[in-house]
Amino acid sequence: MFFWYDEGMLNAKALLDRVRPRPPFIDRLPGISPNSGTAMYPYIYVGRRAYENLLSDEPDQSNVALVLHEQEHITRIQELGIVNWYRHYFFSRTFRLEEELAAIKPQFNHLKRSGISVDIEHRARMLCGGAYLWPTSYDNAYSRLSAIWEAAPFPMQGAAAA
Ligand SMILES: [Zn+2]
Repeated sequence: MFFWYDEGMLNAKALLDRVRPRPPFIDRLPGISPNSGTAMYPYIYVGRRAYENLLSDEPDQSNVALVLHEQEHITRIQELGIVNWYRHYFFSRTFRLEEELAAIKPQFNHLKRSGISVDIEHRARMLCGGAYLWPTSYDNAYSRLSAIWEAAPFPMQGAAAA
C-alpha cells in the first residue's frame, strides 16, 4: 500500500487533478530533465512518463514527491498573487532560491519518509545552476539542502510504505 500524503493530509485526487503531462516537444528540448516538474499556475506539468506513473495504482514515491514540490509553489503563488510571484521569481535571485528551498522541503520530507535517499551534491549542482538562473553558490545550495534533509522527519515506525 502506498500513500499519497503529506503533513496536511493532502487530498490525493484533488492534487492529481492539477497535474498535466508536459507536451512532448518540451520534453525533448535540451536541458529539460524528464524528472522535473513545472508549476504553471494553477497546473503542475510533469514529463509524460511521470504523469502516466502518477495515474497508476502504485506511483513511484519520487514522482509523488515531485508533485508535492510543485504544489508548494502553487500554494505560494496563490498566496502572493500570480503576477507578483512570477515577477519576483524571475527577477530576484534571493526570492527564487527561497521559493525553491520552500518547495524542496515537502519534497524531501516525502522522500525521506518513503525511504528514498537524495543525492545532495547532485541537487545542489542543479539548484545553483542555469536551470534556476544561478540563484546562489554551490556551497550555499549544498548547506541549505543538507539542512532541509537533516531536518526532515524519519518514517514513523510501522507507517512505512511496503
Ligand atoms: Zn521548484
